Amino acid sequence: MKYKIVNINKTGERSVLIIYTGGTFGMVQDSSGALAPFNFGKVVDRVPELRQLGIRITVISFPKPIDSSNILVQDWKDMAYIIEENYSQYDAFVILHGTDTMAYSASMLSYMLEGLNKPVIFTGAQMPIGSIRSDARENLITALEIAAAHNNGDPIVSEVCVYFNYRLLRGSRSQKLRSSTFAAFESENYPWLAEAGIEIEFNYPALKPYDKEAKLIVRNEMDSNVAILKIFPGITEHVVRSILSDPDIKGVVIETFGSGNTMSFDWFIKCLQDAIDDGKVILNVSQCIGGEVEQGRYETSKKLNQIGVLSGGDITTEAAITKLIFLLGAGFSSNELKQQLTHSLVGEMDSSIE
Ligand code: ASP
Repeated sequence: MKYKIVNINKTGERSVLIIYTGGTFGMVQDSSGALAPFNFGKVVDRVPELRQLGIRITVISFPKPIDSSNILVQDWKDMAYIIEENYSQYDAFVILHGTDTMAYSASMLSYMLEGLNKPVIFTGAQMPIGSIRSDARENLITALEIAAAHNNGDPIVSEVCVYFNYRLLRGSRSQKLRSSTFAAFESENYPWLAEAGIEIEFNYPALKPYDKEAKLIVRNEMDSNVAILKIFPGITEHVVRSILSDPDIKGVVIETFGSGNTMSFDWFIKCLQDAIDDGKVILNVSQCIGGEVEQGRYETSKKLNQIGVLSGGDITTEAAITKLIFLLGAGFSSNELKQQLTHSLVGEMDSSIE
């Protein structure tokens, strides 16, 4: 693939590579009035401050910037490839990405970039950089400052994060919860990693500790033969069975009620049991934004334990489905897969929850 590379600023102590994938951040209205992504060259003209931050900045742009609703597995591989190829040359990476699927991409990159010890900060905007009231400028500038932040040369952040609306969140804990306010993202089950006010205040106990010896290994085998089944009162057996019995599907995230409860009807449990007997993995995550799955707490979730549905604990749906794609691609044995799905790989869930 041919990437466009632009040097924005050549002087400064720290170096950051911006990877521009698209999103509202750099969109303009087309002739019909709909928003579509445009070239990063034009974006830079709108943020002249990039040259005054005292950070060496280079931008590498996807050949055709995309709306993140069109993100594919290959795009995750491309982002990871760009980081791998440029890893030794830059102190940090900022990924400009559409907000719609940013939490999925941030989760997936967290899994793919094993041994990461530099910041990879996703950011974007709810309003295009060309709009007068846009959040794009603040999000980009502070994301760059956080990416460049260090203690005696060691980066303060050494994991994949989302920076949005004055908060830095762990990427694999983030979720887009709002589409019409600037406060689009939250990480309900994990504290913020930093808050930007007059100063940027880092929440050191919540940050992944820096590991000087860590070596980056990019894992990019994936298997997308997965599904999400969100249950609701009145869901029919036909719908449940058609998803769970699809011969190509290897893993299903079921989004359940409250602390992991489902209907306890015989047909429903039988559908799950048949899928598990067929070799599929089923991971239970809650439809609630906060809290966790506790299989067995209620009568309605006890049977799930008995038939081998796995508890996703306090993981988000975004982190769960990307974890399934990632782990199925790695080709683990059934036991290893179950072990990894129910334990934290990169801080995406609390491993102490069983
Ligand atoms: N549809 C846009 C995208 O995800 C929304 C955004 O960037 O805010 O690319």
